[in-house]
Amino acid sequence: MTFSELGLKPELLRAVADKGYETPSPIQAQAIPAVLAGRDVLAGAQTGTGKTASFVLPILQRLGAGEGQRTGAPRALVLAPTRELAAQVADSAKAYAKYLPVRTYCVFGGVSINPQVAALRAGCDVLVATPGRLLDLAQQRWVDLSRVEILVLDEADRMLDMGFIADIRRVIKLLPERRQNLLFSATYSDDIRALAERLLRDPQSIQVAPRNAPIELVEQRAYRVPKEHKRHLLVHLIRDGSWSQVLVFTRTKHGANRLTQQLEAAQVPAAAIHGNKSQNARVRALDMFKRGQITALVATEVAARGLDIKELPYVVNYELPNVPEDYVHRIGRTGRAGSPGVAVSLVSPDEQEYLRDIEKLLKRSIPALQAPVFTVPEPQAGAAGERAPQSQARPQGRGNGAHQRPAGGGAPREGHGHRRHSGQERRGGAPRWQRGR
Ligand code: AMP
Repeated sequence: MTFSELGLKPELLRAVADKGYETPSPIQAQAIPAVLAGRDVLAGAQTGTGKTASFVLPILQRLGAGEGQRTGAPRALVLAPTRELAAQVADSAKAYAKYLPVRTYCVFGGVSINPQVAALRAGCDVLVATPGRLLDLAQQRWVDLSRVEILVLDEADRMLDMGFIADIRRVIKLLPERRQNLLFSATYSDDIRALAERLLRDPQSIQVAPRNAPIELVEQRAYRVPKEHKRHLLVHLIRDGSWSQVLVFTRTKHGANRLTQQLEAAQVPAAAIHGNKSQNARVRALDMFKRGQITALVATEVAARGLDIKELPYVVNYELPNVPEDYVHRIGRTGRAGSPGVAVSLVSPDEQEYLRDIEKLLKRSIPALQAPVFTVPEPQAGAAGERAPQSQARPQGRGNGAHQRPAGGGAPREGHGHRRHSGQERRGGAPRWQRGR
């Protein structure tokens, strides 16, 4: 199967070829013809399956062919749960529309509304939006939704989880009755089914396998390491492996901030991405990471959901998630589109149980190996707060060589106060998302 066999026009085929895609993914092979034929679609597909192109490409084609006039009002509307996902969908749409006279714009909350108002006034064909900001704009009549021909609910399950159902209903009321509807969801709850029933007319149902294949491509490693040595091991892994791009997961926002500072102090360029960061800071961090300006992006689970970072070579679970499904989400970010990835978990003694739960879910074992020999920096006289390496401050199971010269030599620039913070994180780490077992 090729993209041209799907009936896409030359301008789109060129854009797809520019992206380097050779064959359509399963969701694309099924959804593209259905959307081109004008059908409503109910698709079960997660991030990473190529779902974005599966609706964006045929939408762009339909807009080109449609008899709808270009009034400047959006003709296709994509609702997405988060700013990050909205921005990524809009970026994809712009890339695929490269050779077409189609304008895409993206609106989301948490940033000033004024530039968005100005851009909408200039007109756009495809509007990607988070529901809240879109409603604000619509209520103030900055955007006219009466010309929308195609509506997409992307990651509908997450939108419902995030409490957007009322907003979605309000948006739908502003749309013309006659339109094409596409609903994408990774999971099917009763609420999703109810929404689909109300929204979709004779939909074509498409279900693509959850991302088993990519996860099989991921090389999974776990290292036993005492909690207080994790950061040194991480620095060692990054340096020793010459990693240039690694997504690191922590459990808490504090933990993400602290680790980012520690990495920077060890001369590993890093940035944190989590819910307490401003929208601008998050976009900037993601952008720097994608451009290779920082080596490590330190993220919390929630902030990282839906991030599309292409062909990510390394994911590190700095702390194991206590919900095993989160592990699958996390490591599913590497090894995309056929490129192999490595997922490394740093497992402290109190996290062994989480590892066992993950193994049960995956139905395979991830043996926790001894960590490679790594350096615990020497304390610097008078350096604020760097703890002296104690005799046990070397990787488990190694009787020699653990204390090498500190690579990079930087002592983390944090004080005792921060250290107490780390105690908090430990407490917060275990029971916060405890599953009701
Ligand atoms: P998505 O599921 O839409 O988030 O897409 C996941 C990733 O796969 C994105 O980085 C896309 O650029 C990439 N991708 C989408 N379609 C294809 C394809 N047919 N071949 C290779 N990569 C693709």
